[in-house]
Amino acid sequence: MAGRANHFILLGIASLCAAALFPPGTISPAAGNELVRPSVAGDFPVASEVRLAGDLKQTRFILDLDKKIDIHAFLLADPYRAVIDIPQVSFRLAPGAGDTGRGLIKAFRYGLVMPGGSRIVFDLAGPAKIEKAYVLDAANGQPPRLVVELEAVDRAAFNRLLVASNGPERGTNSPAPVADTTGSTGAVVSADGRPVVVIDPGHGGIDNGTQASTGETEKDLVLAFAVALRDRIEQDGKYQVIMTRTDDTFVPLAERVRIARSNGAALFVSIHADALPRREGDARGATIYTLSDKASDAEAERLAETENKADAIGGVNLTEEPTDVADILIDLAQRETRTFSNRFARLLMNEMKTSARMHKHPLKSAGFRVLKAPDVPSVLVELGYVSNRADLRQMLSDDWRSRTVRAVAKAIETFLAKRVVSASPAH
Ligand code: ZN
Repeated sequence: MAGRANHFILLGIASLCAAALFPPGTISPAAGNELVRPSVAGDFPVASEVRLAGDLKQTRFILDLDKKIDIHAFLLADPYRAVIDIPQVSFRLAPGAGDTGRGLIKAFRYGLVMPGGSRIVFDLAGPAKIEKAYVLDAANGQPPRLVVELEAVDRAAFNRLLVASNGPERGTNSPAPVADTTGSTGAVVSADGRPVVVIDPGHGGIDNGTQASTGETEKDLVLAFAVALRDRIEQDGKYQVIMTRTDDTFVPLAERVRIARSNGAALFVSIHADALPRREGDARGATIYTLSDKASDAEAERLAETENKADAIGGVNLTEEPTDVADILIDLAQRETRTFSNRFARLLMNEMKTSARMHKHPLKSAGFRVLKAPDVPSVLVELGYVSNRADLRQMLSDDWRSRTVRAVAKAIETFLAKRVVSASPAH
């Protein structure tokens, strides 16, 4: 990895415009500071039941609705997926629906990807085509139904269909292309003169993140923590806080990075909660991660792999994602950012250990995509393990949350106070 990066050092940051690094095609709820509008609790169409039929040659997916909706179906490669974009729908399916599939559908997920827009993502057992996708009127005592018919094809046929379904007029799988590509680099303060800290609650919408055996999801736990952290930091008004999401919406990893860069963030803090499969022991405690080419240990490597899957889960077209941003910038240009990231990570550990139980190795590093802004010090905090009962109890407790939020806020304030002094007037 590092070897490849070395070929690109001379390119530097400045010669790469933000548009090249972050082309349109990611799902962006909105540009600017109002990143995520709270979705209005309106009367969205309701999806009440789902059925799968067929085998590895032909598979049919049927979703019962209470009214007709428009759909847009397309394919994605690496891994093989089929995606159905639909208007915002209230999914009232049985818990666990989609965890196991049938025939060509290995599994499927559903949920919000943007305000007003839901999505269904099918993980396919192999290359397949969307033979038909349509919505039937209510008839013969049956409700309106969304029907998707998949048919197995070979890899070459799949690739031809992929080009056709992502044709030039679309060129993207996104229902709402990003219009704003004005990424600024180097600014440490916002337009109103206050330093900007971007808080990034992991996952959201169609991507639940980890899940406790009792049903609590990472996406909800980390959103609650992030909102409390924002409120705490904003109390004294010295710093501007921008959230990558404020509700249950899916935000692609590159979009999270873009939000940090385009707002000239002085710090990016991504909030997560880990889980271990039962057979892999019962780790607990908080861990703070920074970016590195080579993972600090096997657990960090596993975690980065899992966290980096968020885009595949959300139905983002990975072949169009700028996967090698950090490869280009990883060395000289990013060295200063890394020094700041590591400094903040240590500061954060020292504050957090006063209120939260820390993992036995609390500082680690790995190749997290969400930490790859070359010019924004970035850390990822795993608050604890939802797979550990004691950790989960803590993460659900208001008392633990407010104590830990206070500690994280204190570390952020200490870091930014120093940063602003030393960075003035330029980055
Ligand atoms: Zn996570």
